[in-house]
Amino acid sequence: MNRQALDELKQQIPLMGYLQAHDWSPARPLSGGRWMGLCPLHEDHKPSFLVDPNKDLFYCYGCGRGGDVIRFAELYHQVKFPQAVALLHQWRGVEPSLLLEAARFYRIQLHRHSEAVAYLYQRGVRSLATIELMRIGYAPGGCLRGWLTQLGYSMSALYQAGLVTGIGYDAYVRRIVFPLEGNLYGRSLSADAPPHRFLPGAKGGLYGWEQVHRYPEVILVEGLFDYAVLWEAGFQNVTCSMGTHLNARQFRQLCDAPRTVYLTFDADGNGSGQQAAQCLSQNLWERGITARLVSLPQGHDPNSFFVQGGEARQFRSLLEAAQ
Ligand SMILES: [Zn+2]
Repeated sequence: MNRQALDELKQQIPLMGYLQAHDWSPARPLSGGRWMGLCPLHEDHKPSFLVDPNKDLFYCYGCGRGGDVIRFAELYHQVKFPQAVALLHQWRGVEPSLLLEAARFYRIQLHRHSEAVAYLYQRGVRSLATIELMRIGYAPGGCLRGWLTQLGYSMSALYQAGLVTGIGYDAYVRRIVFPLEGNLYGRSLSADAPPHRFLPGAKGGLYGWEQVHRYPEVILVEGLFDYAVLWEAGFQNVTCSMGTHLNARQFRQLCDAPRTVYLTFDADGNGSGQQAAQCLSQNLWERGITARLVSLPQGHDPNSFFVQGGEARQFRSLLEAAQ
C-alpha cells in the first residue's frame, strides 16, 4: 500500500471519532483544541492520554506511546501494521445500512426455508418472540447479491463487507444469521462447513449489553444459541461473548460497574471452556468484579442442557452452587 493510499485512509478515519467509537472519552480540554483522557492502552487512573484532533495524533505520558490512528489500532487491537491497516479498512468499509439491509433480507428468508426453522427448533429456539428479539435470519446462499445490488449497493461494497466472495457468490450459505454490532454471525446448518463464521472485522461488544448492564448479576455464555435458550427459559440477565475469548471492549464492559458475573462456558470434554472461564474469572477478580464459575453436567453447554430437558429451576440451582 502506498503512502498516498495510507494518507487517504487516515483522512477518512479521524482519530477522535475512532477513539470515541472504542469507548474513549475526553476528560479535560487543553489549549489548541487538544484533549486529555484516560489511556485506553494501559491501566490508567489519572488522565495521561493526550489527543490532538487537528493533527490526528495521540501521545500517552503514562506508557510513552503515541502516533496516528494506524499506530493506535496496532496497539489497541494488538496487531501488526498491515493487519491494523486492514482492520481500519474494514471499519471504514462496512456501512451500517448495508449490514441492516443484509440482515433484513436474511430475516425474510428464514420463514421461507423450513430447514432453517426446523434447525432453530432442534436447537431450542422455539418461540417467535426470541426470533424477533434476536432478529434471527437465514442465509440460503445465492440471492443476497441480487437483492443488495438492486438496492443500489456496489459489488465492491459487498465484497469489502465480506458479504460476497471475490467472484460474487454469497459468503454465507445455509447459515442461521444473527446480527451483531457491526457484524453478522453465521451458524452453518451443514456439517461439512466451518460451524462458526463472522464477517471480517471486530465481533463487537457483548451481545445485548444495553439491556443487561443494569443487572447486578449477569450470566455470561459463549454462544448465541446458549443465549437464546436461557432467554426462552426466562433468564433476561444473560449476555454472550461469541466465543470464550473476550475482546478488550467486552472485558471493559463487564468491568464497567460493580457486579457478579456467572461464567457459564461449555463443559466440553477437553476442558477448554472451563480453562478459559478460570482465566477470565481471575482477570475479573483482579478488576474487583465478582466472578462465579457455573458447572454444567459434563459434556453440556447451556444450550444442550435446556434442549435435553433441563429446567429453569435446575439451572437456577447450578447458579446458586457456582463458586
Ligand atoms: Zn498509556
